[in-house]
Amino acid sequence: MMKMMIRLGKVLAVCLPSAIGVAYGLEWVLGIPISAAWLAGSTLVPVIVGMPVIFFIEGQSIKLRNAVFRLDQMREETAERAKRDSMTGLYTHQHFMEKIHESGRRDDGSLIILDIDHFKNINDNYGHAQGDEALIRVVAAVRKAVRAGDVVGRIGGEEFAVFLLDANKEEAKMVASRIRQTVESIEFIPKNGVKAPLTVSVGVAMKDEMDNVVGALQLADMRMYKAKQSGRNQVVDSGLEAEVFDLTRGTQG
Ligand code: GH3
Ligand code: MG
Ligand code: MG
Repeated sequence: MMKMMIRLGKVLAVCLPSAIGVAYGLEWVLGIPISAAWLAGSTLVPVIVGMPVIFFIEGQSIKLRNAVFRLDQMREETAERAKRDSMTGLYTHQHFMEKIHESGRRDDGSLIILDIDHFKNINDNYGHAQGDEALIRVVAAVRKAVRAGDVVGRIGGEEFAVFLLDANKEEAKMVASRIRQTVESIEFIPKNGVKAPLTVSVGVAMKDEMDNVVGALQLADMRMYKAKQSGRNQVVDSGLEAEVFDLTRGTQG
């Protein structure tokens, strides 16, 4: 309303001097005398005619501003949604890598990689929907074990990675063990009365063990595979540094 009043003031400020100017102009050119009624009429008529037009334009411009605001919001929401996996709500592989590149440059911390054991059996024995349910329950266990600021991603179908900010090796080992134990204790009953075992193999590495955070992620990955080879449902947090160094040297030429 305030804006409308300001606009009305502006209109009068323009119309009134214009009308007076036109009236004096006419008197000067044509010799027509100016009457007070004529002056008032010639000022008010354009204002009365112009007001609905101004209100209309003002209304349209408010609508346009709201539409642009809603569009901006939608664009932000879409961009945010693209960063997350739709089933679990975790960061996608690509966004997880972007996040650890960014945060790995400034923050210390440790990496965890975990993969669900014999997950294919769950799908094969109980169907894909039950497989999805198992996956969601494992993610809940991971979420419970980490802190709010930690970076968690779904880096494969049934494979997850965590960057534990500022966590040293001992703390990371504790978190990894907690995840392993919590997953093992999940009461997953995909068929009436039949409990299916749910376990994960976990690899842990500290960022400082390698040159950079991506090297540490590879180390955690190799340790996760070591956990698989050693019988699954376990945490591996040491060894294999030399192999990852060879690997990274090989890829860098
Ligand atoms: P391992 O212990 O060696 O990891 O064995 P695994 O059976 O877990 O590994 P494998 O790579 O053979 O199988 C992974 C399976 O995970 C195959 C794939 O169909 C399934 N999977 C991947 N993503 C999803 C998903 O979103 N939902 C369901 N239900 N299954 C998925
Ligand atoms: Mg697996
Ligand atoms: Mg896998």
